[in-house]
Amino acid sequence: ILKHVRPSLHDLKPYIPGKPIADVQRELGIDNIIKLASNENPAGPSKRAQEAIQQSLFDLHRYPDGGQVVLKSELAAYHNVSEDMLLIGNGSDEVISFFCTTFLEPGDEIVVPSPSFSEYKFASTLMAGRTVEVPLGEGFEYDLNDFANAVTDRTRIVFLCSPNNPTGTYIRQSDLEAFLQRISPEILVVIDEAYNEYVEAPDYAQGLDLLKKGYNVAVMRTFSKLFGLAALRVGYTITKPEIVNYVNRVREPFNVNHLAQVAAVAALHDEEHIEVSRKVNSEGKQALYEGFRRLGMKYIPTETNFILVDTGVDSKELFQALLRKGVIIRDGGFFGLPTWIRVTIGLPEENTRFLAALEESV
Ligand code: PMP
Repeated sequence: ILKHVRPSLHDLKPYIPGKPIADVQRELGIDNIIKLASNENPAGPSKRAQEAIQQSLFDLHRYPDGGQVVLKSELAAYHNVSEDMLLIGNGSDEVISFFCTTFLEPGDEIVVPSPSFSEYKFASTLMAGRTVEVPLGEGFEYDLNDFANAVTDRTRIVFLCSPNNPTGTYIRQSDLEAFLQRISPEILVVIDEAYNEYVEAPDYAQGLDLLKKGYNVAVMRTFSKLFGLAALRVGYTITKPEIVNYVNRVREPFNVNHLAQVAAVAALHDEEHIEVSRKVNSEGKQALYEGFRRLGMKYIPTETNFILVDTGVDSKELFQALLRKGVIIRDGGFFGLPTWIRVTIGLPEENTRFLAALEESV
């Protein structure tokens, strides 16, 4: 039977991102663990989302709204787009795979940054697609000319991640439009903006502006980061109605559960939670920058809720050393950066504890 497994699966290894707290507790027998590994919101979930879930518990016997009517209408108003431009997934992970399922025949290509989020390659590999990786610059900056040059007549999707995971670097407004003008309009450009709500840079390219100008762009957003609902799995794309019309055909009817839908609506309007989350992040960012400077470590200025930093030591060993001190971070080795780590910006006390553990471990 195994000879009938699709050949594209032979290259895939199961991957569990971000070591779970429970694993570390079990393996090392330590408590009081802090996880700064998966770019979650350290300020926690929105209270209004929690209340909305409480109030929806009596509805658990019903299937969720497969048309996602309320959430779509709230998102449409929030972004000033029409509802037929929205498609919601069980996390933006699922939306990435929707795009690859919709557009890729075996041998077709996607173009992605390197290093970047691993799901693009995963989803394309599942469809027996090829992933063309375009290296970012020395400071992990984007040069979109390199992306335009990587496009071939087999390219179906260009995935741009801005701000990029794991580097925190972003695409500038003027660069994005020039790139879109240069490449064929037959190629879909997906801009993964999972960290959009953290961006402070004034020249950041808002994918939505380019979509509204008529380019074949799909913007992706998520409730897992600033909105603090990673456990519930809600991500979405905003793109042209004719693209939604096809992508929607690969979606399971009840892909986003009911509690996730009501919580997302509540979190979207929880201004207090949004403000606190942004404040925690921008203050934490400065505290970590300062810590890295003190330790003489090079870091990449970030527009997200995580920082990529060159520790100058073997990141695999450092990962283990920090784990023994109850601090979970992401080892840069996974991204091909063996002396770097990626750390999520935490609460003030978490940042302090992480910096102390880092200092002791290098
Ligand atoms: N895109 C990027 C760039 C991410 O970093 C992540 C989460 N790590 C995702 C998408 C997936 O987010 P979601 O929880 O919505 O699936």
